Amino acid sequence: MGTVSGAALMARSLKTQGVDYMFGIVGFPVQGVAAEAQKAGITYIGMRNEQAASYAAHAAGYLTGRPQACLTVSGPGVIHAFAGLANAKENCWPMILIGGASPVYQNGMGAFQEERQTELAAPYCKFAHDIEHASRIPFYVNKAVRHSIYGRPGPVYLDFPDDIIRAEVDEDEIVDAPRVPEPPRTLADPEAVEATLNALESAERPLVVVGKGMAWSRAEDEVREFIERTQLPFLNSPMGKGTMPDDDPLSVGAARSTALREADLVVLLGARLNWIMHFGQPPRFNKDVRVIQLDIQPEEIGSNVAVETALVGDGKAVVGQLNRALDNRQWFYPAETEWRDTLKAKAEANLKAVQPMIDDDAAPTNYYRAFRDIVDWMPDDAIIIGEGANTMDIGRTQMPNRSARHRLDAGTYGTMGVGLGFAIAAAVTNPDKPIVSVQGDSAFGFTGMEIETMVRYNLPVKLIVLNNGGIGGGIGPLEEGQTVPPGILTYGAHYEGMLEALGGKGFYVEDPKDLRAALDEAMAFNGPTLINVPLNPRAGRKPQEFGWLTT
Ligand code: ADP
Ligand code: MG
Repeated sequence: MGTVSGAALMARSLKTQGVDYMFGIVGFPVQGVAAEAQKAGITYIGMRNEQAASYAAHAAGYLTGRPQACLTVSGPGVIHAFAGLANAKENCWPMILIGGASPVYQNGMGAFQEERQTELAAPYCKFAHDIEHASRIPFYVNKAVRHSIYGRPGPVYLDFPDDIIRAEVDEDEIVDAPRVPEPPRTLADPEAVEATLNALESAERPLVVVGKGMAWSRAEDEVREFIERTQLPFLNSPMGKGTMPDDDPLSVGAARSTALREADLVVLLGARLNWIMHFGQPPRFNKDVRVIQLDIQPEEIGSNVAVETALVGDGKAVVGQLNRALDNRQWFYPAETEWRDTLKAKAEANLKAVQPMIDDDAAPTNYYRAFRDIVDWMPDDAIIIGEGANTMDIGRTQMPNRSARHRLDAGTYGTMGVGLGFAIAAAVTNPDKPIVSVQGDSAFGFTGMEIETMVRYNLPVKLIVLNNGGIGGGIGPLEEGQTVPPGILTYGAHYEGMLEALGGKGFYVEDPKDLRAALDEAMAFNGPTLINVPLNPRAGRKPQEFGWLTT
């Protein structure tokens, strides 16, 4: 029997487990790991900062349904990638971080980039462990993958020291481990299924909220059948968008605040009552609202609001149970109710409030006018990435999704700077789909150098920067000698020129009348493009009923 190196065994084990992508930065001690990954048939994408690489890894995990890998050097490399671990944990998305580490025999000696990596990674992870012997690599990879996708998905960490990477082990000493099967699809208590349908029949103002847990569990067919059969009004969460088509007639997304505030029964499908859902509490919710909650994680049930009925199980399986239980009932929510009228009137009023901004051809433009052309141009199968304060919030209302897992944004953790890593992940895992990222100028800047990664791998990502020269709001050009306010960025900065310099194609669109032509030209270009759209720095949103983060 021959021998195999720790690096090669890691690559082999990852491939066995369905880890097909690795995003990282090489250096001591992991060069060999990346090279072996390529030999094993894993697509390796070399990035410019571990932070962006870790964002790419968990977006790729969400999109493919298996955890994908991030590979970093020891010490600072691992620390940078904690940004992605934390974001993955908050979003409930899988990923494996493989952190290179200083050699075990130098532990405690002040080795190069020595750090207590596993200890520090643990709070962000479902499972974090050192690999103490090369022969056990398959065992640890199997265990890490299982933890990352069974139950509520999340990130895992494996610490991979230099001497273990370089170790040679006999093939017959290897502790082999099989491929982790797809997560078991657990069913809810049948009594809870019936109780859910009874509750719906008794509700006057029901609302279904579709979250990214449903997108993750590939439950779109079941959710669509459920909504079609029950005719219930529904709302997609920001990344649940597309699980039900946003432009479905039963969507009440355009009357979100009213729907949440006045519903008497809310059915949460794979969505949490956290800050994004205003904790399920007054004044954003009715104080007597009844809640039915579907979640794979039992501990999530009852968070912030007591729950009337708990559907604990896998999203796809449990909504399938609801659909089968519906076979025995004639019931559906009637076509004409006061509730539907209220929601329809509110949606129409909201649309009317923004119509003048949509129709405004003035230059520099405003968000709504820019989104008008972007939406007209957007291909139906595009994976859309949205990021930035106003850019993301307004984009959520203006850019619809029609398919599940086609929307990525700052998510539960509200992380700015995820956009370019997410776009790279979407492009490499979905080479047949258009990838469109719409970011604010601040969001773009966090990981802007990843445009070089896009050029190097010729990833045809279409970047659009809605540029108001500020974090949140801008003020336009500064006056001579004016102290630079903390939230101000260079107004009119030519970010498209950076991409041009690196080999992509850039556009600077000052007049909204030129936007559509630029978008078409960008789509026709076979490579990364960046359309930089200076905005009127005072362009804002429609007046909001509740301020940002109001509970
Ligand atoms: P959103 O931001 O879209 O509201 P959240 O991330 O807050 O979504 O909530 C998603 C929920 O989905 C989490 O509580 C998670 O435990 C749950 N979840 C994850 N996987 C599954 C699954 N397979 N079936 C059901 N629920 C799931
Ligand atoms: Mg800005």
